[in-house]
Amino acid sequence: MALAYIGLGSNLSDNIDGHIVVAPKAQLSKALDSLSLHSQISLIKVSSFYQTPPIGPGEQADYINAVAQLETQLTPIQLLDYLQSIEQQQGRVRNIRWGARTLDLDILLYDQLVQDSERLTLPHPRMHERGFVLAPLTEIEPQLCLPNGENIVALLANCSMQGIVKL
Ligand code: ATP
Ligand code: CA
Ligand code: CA
Repeated sequence: MALAYIGLGSNLSDNIDGHIVVAPKAQLSKALDSLSLHSQISLIKVSSFYQTPPIGPGEQADYINAVAQLETQLTPIQLLDYLQSIEQQQGRVRNIRWGARTLDLDILLYDQLVQDSERLTLPHPRMHERGFVLAPLTEIEPQLCLPNGENIVALLANCSMQGIVKL
């Protein structure tokens, strides 16, 4: 059984014929439901939701971000496959990098595994510099360290928290 941390984010409502179907907070709740429904995943902890400024290109709405801690028997790639299937179910369209999206699910950590393959890099290569990841992560597991020994509370202290609001 592995302990994994998932970063969740959404800033685009699913839009069908101009009608907003699912708002960002509901996208996150729906994704959390899908995670807990998998027979080989147990959801252990979920952070508060955070409203955070967008980092990507152009004009984008604020994001809603959260982090979940789960136990799983899935391998890292099986977990990524499942996360991507949830993104697809919830209307993710892959276009511009860091563009707006209905749902983004990243594997932040999978135990203390370090790997760099074409589809999967662990720990997530940009988590250590992102307030919108480290703030919710610190909320649920403040003593957590990365495989290189860095403590997430110390990393968070070096991040900008500008515009990040805990909901
Ligand atoms: P960022 O990675 O900076 O948060 P992003 O989440 O917008 O950006 P995506 O377009 O969602 O990037 O993902 C691009 C690819 O990243 C995915 O197809 C996936 O194979 C790969 N990837 C590598 N490492 C990870 C990881 N730890 N978690 C999720 N996807 C990963
Ligand atoms: Ca991401
Ligand atoms: Ca992603």
